[in-house]
Amino acid sequence: MVIQPLIERKRDGGELTAAEWTALVEGFTAGAVPDYQMSALLMAVTLRGMSAAELNTLCESMLHSGLSLDFGAWAVPRVDKHSTGGVGDKVSLVLAPLVASCGVAVPMISGRGLGHTGGTTDKMESIPGFRTDLSLAETRDQVQRIGAAMVGQTAEIAPADGRLYPLRDVTGTVPSVPLIAASIMAKKLAEGLNALVLDVKTGSGAFLPEAERGVELARTMVGLGEAHGCRTVAYLTAMDQPLGRAIGNALEVEEALHALAGEGPEDLSRLTRTLAIEMLLAGGVVKNRKEGEARVEEALSSGKALDTFRKIIEAQGGNPAVVDDPGVLPQAEEVELFPAPIGGTIRQIEPRMLGEAVVEMGGGRRALGDTVDHSVGFVVTVKPGSKVIAGEPIASVFASDKTGVQIGLAALARAIKFTGTLDPLPLVSHRITADGVETLEPGYL
Ligand code: URA
Repeated sequence: MVIQPLIERKRDGGELTAAEWTALVEGFTAGAVPDYQMSALLMAVTLRGMSAAELNTLCESMLHSGLSLDFGAWAVPRVDKHSTGGVGDKVSLVLAPLVASCGVAVPMISGRGLGHTGGTTDKMESIPGFRTDLSLAETRDQVQRIGAAMVGQTAEIAPADGRLYPLRDVTGTVPSVPLIAASIMAKKLAEGLNALVLDVKTGSGAFLPEAERGVELARTMVGLGEAHGCRTVAYLTAMDQPLGRAIGNALEVEEALHALAGEGPEDLSRLTRTLAIEMLLAGGVVKNRKEGEARVEEALSSGKALDTFRKIIEAQGGNPAVVDDPGVLPQAEEVELFPAPIGGTIRQIEPRMLGEAVVEMGGGRRALGDTVDHSVGFVVTVKPGSKVIAGEPIASVFASDKTGVQIGLAALARAIKFTGTLDPLPLVSHRITADGVETLEPGYL
């Protein structure tokens, strides 16, 4: 196949046929289409978009580039959740064991860090020994045995996304509705799910910051899910500030452990509960939100959710001692407090700057094949609206050396703002289903 005319057609706003997209995805997955040509094509798609027919073929060919989980006649409902990517977004780490402990199976296939955002797979790999590269058979057996598995994309599952995702990460081609939708749905539709709950981020730290684009992404993914017989519900949620306090792989695992013990930060706990209740409803194990809320509370307060997390870690070769002692996680060489530069009210905490700093400090990838330092990141103990006095410690930097500390301190100084209007986005603003877009009241959670 000659690739150049296809790139040129897309660059000039034209469409590729289903046969051309299928051949491109197959060729790229097999190594026959080089990275430089695929990068150019991805950039053309990012700038020009895709028709609905093109998107459908792209998603289908990415899905069929690998195998799918098949649970046969197993009667337990299977529901997963996926986020479009955020800073400090460790919801999946809490949600998978929480929902599994309530009787809905969660075969979770996640991504790695992408751009300035973290990825569940990298976060889980900060637990010593934890394997995210389970085979399909191992994943299925584990889900049937303990209710959940937390794995990464592998050679068996959507391998096309396995090649495209890291390439997009380093070529500025993440913020595209069709590319995000195809990447997420190709993985999720391979999971043998009955239903899927999506967390679509909006605000300055999201890949698509404008709410309208977030809604467009949500509708696109809901459409793809429903067309494949998977009931799909999406929430539009705030990413104009980091979620919770911790940003960085191991630090986020530690915070997720607190949340599973019922002691997580308020925003993380509220968002996790909202998504968990939706998953229980979608799985048919509760009849209404009230019942869902009670089930979630019970799973957290009884320790069942935490116990399921321990089982997942143990089953995937990780050190389960982490549940009682987060000290077994990789520890940063350097830790330094960040004092408030002035007194007053904090107006904004820019998530993107902090996410980018984590990548620069080694906690993410700048080039294909980079290794990740799981120990680095931030803990930010204030939120927009917090009143502070000058000199009071409001955050900490975790770094591998003094240079990393300086990068972290400079990022905090830029990201934490005392000027501007104090107008944070509502944590959860819209619910999108096949029936349409519902604007949620502030008291929804
Ligand atoms: N998560 C994914 O799996 N893919 C994307 O493109 C963005 C977020």
